[in-house]
Amino acid sequence: MPDAPPHILGLSRPELAGFLAGAGAPAFRTAQILDWLYGKRVMDFSKMLNLPADLRGRLSATFQAGLPELVEVQGSDDTTRKFLFRLADGQLVETVFIPASPALYGDSSDRRTLCVSSQVGCAYGCKFCASGLDGWKRNLTTAEIVGQLLAVEAHTGERVSNIVFMGMGEPFANYQNLMRAIEILNSPWGTGIGARKITVSTSGLVTKIREFADQPLQTRLAISLHGATDDVRNRIMPINTRFPLAQLMDACSHYSLRKKQHLTFELILIAGVNDSPDQARALAKLAAPLRAKVNIIPYNTVQGLDWVRPDVAVQEAFLRILLDQGIPATLRREKGHDIAAACGQLRLRHADAASSTETRKNLFAQTPLTA
Ligand code: SAH
Ligand code: SF4
Repeated sequence: MPDAPPHILGLSRPELAGFLAGAGAPAFRTAQILDWLYGKRVMDFSKMLNLPADLRGRLSATFQAGLPELVEVQGSDDTTRKFLFRLADGQLVETVFIPASPALYGDSSDRRTLCVSSQVGCAYGCKFCASGLDGWKRNLTTAEIVGQLLAVEAHTGERVSNIVFMGMGEPFANYQNLMRAIEILNSPWGTGIGARKITVSTSGLVTKIREFADQPLQTRLAISLHGATDDVRNRIMPINTRFPLAQLMDACSHYSLRKKQHLTFELILIAGVNDSPDQARALAKLAAPLRAKVNIIPYNTVQGLDWVRPDVAVQEAFLRILLDQGIPATLRREKGHDIAAACGQLRLRHADAASSTETRKNLFAQTPLTA
């Protein structure tokens, strides 16, 4: 099959300028086209009326345009909405829009957070997660990452203020496309979302955490920790056998030092796995030197998996231990956020083949890690 043409939303400003120079167009066309795409949100070259007809034709012949196709929207009481998109090759991805989420990353009440996917499926095979159930399919392109935001804004009529890479996939296993998408999402010529309002979540790809720390943007980092000791992490997160906690904590402190920013530890509480007082105390010891914030998220049931969330009393006791040790910690209680905490589930319902645990593949052992 011939390669699909490049997508216009995957181009940085210099790349677009380079193409236009090669096509003999004057330099000011770059700003005009970017304004159509990210200002006026017009994805159809034929409607870019201040461009000469031959340039419009040249653009249509060279680039794909358009946004991911909406398949389903699932809402919840507090208007958190989960979007299922179909990509050009038929693959499905999820994006979650969370209008005001004081419990998620801070206090501002008017933040509109978008949780975006970075891959179709996931190769890292964490034992509790729906995204990895059917293995890894492919990386999302830069245009597919940026397209999730533009499509949700087009459907909701609202502007996203914050982005979290906490949808399907491991963003750091798709580093190049991720960073290019962040450039576009962050740039004034793109969607202009401040770097401090963009958070990447990783299960712990140590080498990429370091690379992320060394790049110039003040982007934020969240670590899916889910266990405060190697034995607990090894049990539920295969990545930990490759990058154990000591290495992960070193990389985290490198990030904090380079960025002069505190990172966030995410901890899904799973009954009988990581919810003991000892785990809470061990977690406090990891968080304290980094001055990391801890987000406790009660486990969200995944069809076909047997894990359960602990009782509220256990959740609160865990939180209390952290707070008593002076760790800034929150416990996510609102029902609506459950939807955000379990990306991958809506897609699984649609992909019949992936609806049972029989299809669960841990590709960790088979897929070479890119980190
Ligand atoms: N791969 C990256 C980015 C995905 S983030 C990472 O793991 O950080 C998706 C978040 O949802 C992760 O913190 C993940 O651990 C969490 N998650 C996965 N399954 C969940 C479940 N059943 N209930 C609650 N959170 C879950
Ligand atoms: Fe992949 Fe993250 Fe899910 Fe682990 S938690 S399987 S790394 S998406």
